[in-house]
Amino acid sequence: MAQRELRNIPSVSSLATLLRDRGITVSDERSVSLAQSIQEDVRRAILEHPSVPASEALETRLARFDDWIVRSRYRRVINGTGIVVHTNLGRAPVSDDAARSMANAAASAVSLEVDPDSGHRGGRMDEVAGLLRELAGAESALVVNNNAAAILLALSALAAGRTVAVSRAEAVEIGGGFRIPDVLRQSGATLLEVGTTNRTYARDYRHPDVVGGVILKVHASNFAISGFVATPTIAELRGVADEQGTILIEDLGSGTLVDTSAFGVDHEPTVAESLAGGADIVTFSGDKLLGGPQAGIVAGRRDLVDRIAQHPLARAVRADKVTLAGVAATLRHYLRGDELNSIPVLRMLAIDVDTLRHRAAAIAERLRRQGIAVELLETTNFVGGGSLPGQALPGVAISLEAGWRTTSDLARRLRLHPDTPVFGRVERDRLLIELRTVAPADDETLSRVLIDVSGSTLRDCGNPESTD
Ligand SMILES: *Cc1c(COP(=O)(O)O)cnc(C)c1O
Repeated sequence: MAQRELRNIPSVSSLATLLRDRGITVSDERSVSLAQSIQEDVRRAILEHPSVPASEALETRLARFDDWIVRSRYRRVINGTGIVVHTNLGRAPVSDDAARSMANAAASAVSLEVDPDSGHRGGRMDEVAGLLRELAGAESALVVNNNAAAILLALSALAAGRTVAVSRAEAVEIGGGFRIPDVLRQSGATLLEVGTTNRTYARDYRHPDVVGGVILKVHASNFAISGFVATPTIAELRGVADEQGTILIEDLGSGTLVDTSAFGVDHEPTVAESLAGGADIVTFSGDKLLGGPQAGIVAGRRDLVDRIAQHPLARAVRADKVTLAGVAATLRHYLRGDELNSIPVLRMLAIDVDTLRHRAAAIAERLRRQGIAVELLETTNFVGGGSLPGQALPGVAISLEAGWRTTSDLARRLRLHPDTPVFGRVERDRLLIELRTVAPADDETLSRVLIDVSGSTLRDCGNPESTD
């Protein structure tokens, strides 16, 4: 079996033709080496799984090329999952303004480190720092690659060789193996766990080892404990920090600038509240509830931000011009007061259920006119991205029948749509497309893709044997 299949592996020249036919355009030299590496992969696949026909092994390999070389893993997709900040779909989509600023900064020279007035060297972080002073009362700020980098950098600069007190309820793992105790050790600090898993009081942070050290408050962003629990406020921690001469750092996680209770979920501490409450330094993500590009923001006392900026790691994790342009454009929405309309994450959180119902009904109507059976369901959506864990938002979804195919096959066809892939979610063997996380401007495209894919499923109904 394996021997015969090995003989069925196409030659280098016919593979080169096949690649061209599939729109996989590479240079002539590359097409020969690509064809050889495909042959090698297919040969290995057949030897490992002798029952796999050469044609199937080849198809698997070519599909990967389609994904990586022809269309790119980074292409635009529609998020129909109902999870607003979806980590696997790249977290926050930025506003149109931010996207334009980022594209412009990427494509040209920018006055990143020049003061246009004097022509002398200026700081690359000045603009974002200025915006955060207005928006959150931060004396100074700096932008790094992400919040993980922000915490590592802040601790490395302020806590190396010192003791950092962390509540037992907050010695958490954020995800992807990012664990607060490990980051602390990496920064050269010594961890002192205080309090208990469920209850920690400000007085628990009073400890001889913490004198001259750091108190770190970490937002338990991706889990919630309830019941017999207690956590000190930032203002209470400020009191203990002052008694002991310790620096108070708060890792806010999402770091919102707006009152999230307006969206019908819990109030998240805002950056301004944390700083006003007495945090010396706050760190937060740019691409969670803030709704900007991936970034980590360090904000707070000027002398401490300066110390952080001078640490050798700062250069290693600093944000580039594209990120800075995106963060600044995002922050300007808050200044203008148009953040709920312009920043996609906030728009998705703020949208009301009636609007979702209307949009879903309009799409359903278009599908039904094409003979596609759909239902509208009232569902539950989530903020996601380790923000506001478990807190539900009401949702409205279009529920699709898979026809004779399986739901997972229908979902796969939508994900692989050549123009605009759509990611939905499967619930009780139905495929749901959640409207909350779809940009209203994408409703038209979404309808087209659903008609395309469901329509072809229906057309195939009469002939389940057909392969395509
Ligand atoms: C998400 C999160 C981080 C990590 O932020 P990234 O921007 O993903 O690096 C750190 N701390 C908390 C509390 C978080 O929620």
